Amino acid sequence: MLVSWNTTNACNLKCSHCYREAGEKAPQELTYSEGLKLIEEIKRAGFHILVFSGGEPLLRPDIYDLISYARSLGLRPVCGTNGTLLTPQVVRKLRDAGAAAVGISLDSTDPEKHDRFRGVAGAWQAAREGMENCRAAGLPFQIHTTVFPWNYEEIEALTDLALETGARGHHVFFFVPTGRGKEQVEAVALEQVEDLLVRLLQRQTAVPIEIKPTCAPQFTRVARQCHLPTRFKRGCLAGISYCIIGPEGDVYPCPYMDLKVANVRRLPFNEIWRSNEVFLKLREQKYGGYCGICSYRRCCGGCRARAFEKGDYLGEDPLCLYKNRQEKKLAGLAEELIIRLQRDLPVTKRPYLALAEELGVKEKDVLKAIRWLKAKGVVRRLGATFDARKLGYQPTLCAAKVPPERVEEVAAVINAYPGVTHNYLREHEYNLWFTLIAESEQQQEALIEEIRQKTGVTEVLNLPAREMFKIAVNFAEEDLRGVFES
Ligand code: SF4
Ligand code: SF4
Ligand code: SF4
Repeated sequence: MLVSWNTTNACNLKCSHCYREAGEKAPQELTYSEGLKLIEEIKRAGFHILVFSGGEPLLRPDIYDLISYARSLGLRPVCGTNGTLLTPQVVRKLRDAGAAAVGISLDSTDPEKHDRFRGVAGAWQAAREGMENCRAAGLPFQIHTTVFPWNYEEIEALTDLALETGARGHHVFFFVPTGRGKEQVEAVALEQVEDLLVRLLQRQTAVPIEIKPTCAPQFTRVARQCHLPTRFKRGCLAGISYCIIGPEGDVYPCPYMDLKVANVRRLPFNEIWRSNEVFLKLREQKYGGYCGICSYRRCCGGCRARAFEKGDYLGEDPLCLYKNRQEKKLAGLAEELIIRLQRDLPVTKRPYLALAEELGVKEKDVLKAIRWLKAKGVVRRLGATFDARKLGYQPTLCAAKVPPERVEEVAAVINAYPGVTHNYLREHEYNLWFTLIAESEQQQEALIEEIRQKTGVTEVLNLPAREMFKIAVNFAEEDLRGVFES
């Protein structure tokens, strides 16, 4: 389990994509003593790795003491830095404090491109020297690269650079537009994401250092589809085995999801981690949209931050080529099914098999299309409606005159009867209507009388159906054609 703490919002760089919009120190950053308490809570919550990040964590004067304290509690402290402040002296202090490793950001092999993006001349050279200083001091480091259209072709060259410099790993971050990056930076296209994931997984088989695609959880799916190895079992860890704490103690499932779930000043972190509702929901892994029915949902899980951007952190991840392709295939069948199901549901032990045979597809495809329609919210329920009369029961419709302020209470009493299928409000003096099924007309009367006694509502009409009319409320076929194309 891994947790990041943005120890400060102060930063000496001005990167265009910065999710924290870092620069100045935040007004109410956690103090040293609050930091120590937080570290204890992190340990109590069962985390193993604590990432000290920022802003630029090396701008926090007490960073070495915080790292040392984390180490003394048995945590593995690591530091996420832009690398520009990693002088030989700083590196030694980090190592002596017990830092297990540092992650250094480097987005290009070309100093000019990196500096332009990071907003400060000389940033590339300083980060590069930082790497050398780590190597000289024996402090393990890895390179962090965020992918954009402008450096998309350079990723392999950056892995080469990681190998040359003695880095232990190359972590490739797939940009999630947040903070400053939302307005200023373009993300790579969907096809490029998929293509790069394959490239990274293939490269991993040829190099001794770790290449980790980060924040493109689909890499776990791509690995399975292409039979490429990966040691990572799960794509998105947000809320499951990862979260982040901001400089002022706000807790988020991940850096790119602007969803504050709590604050460590108000509630101990251990408690937040164990019982916060958002975390519990994320751990259930019950997703909406295509992620909810995808065969890779357990390993991938979709990016919850990208889903959140679309309005629901449990919804589907829009950045998935597989989802798009699968949905395209399902859309045609789903359309056929809706048109067909308007007529009837075959009365047989396996109605979906009968439908599949009729439509010339497999039963599992029909079931998948129906699950997809439900996950998309197109269909709420698909099931049979029984004709109560044919089963030997007597249905009736009842109307009650209930004082408006007692509607909820009376409805609750009525709903408790197993023979009541549903009720609804009408704008009429008889305002509460419900359907009641009983074994006979006598029993109906007895139940209605019992309801009158229990609720004190004396005016309840019994309106049994005398004649049946069947109205087909079907969509016209031409209105359904192409309905899923958008
Ligand atoms: S991305 Fe990192 S280095 Fe760049 S401004 Fe933000 S905190 Fe600083
Ligand atoms: S939600 Fe997305 S950005 Fe956040 S950790 Fe998961 S994959 Fe990464
Ligand atoms: S549909 Fe969702 S769970 Fe499936 S691979 Fe795509 S992002 Fe992952």
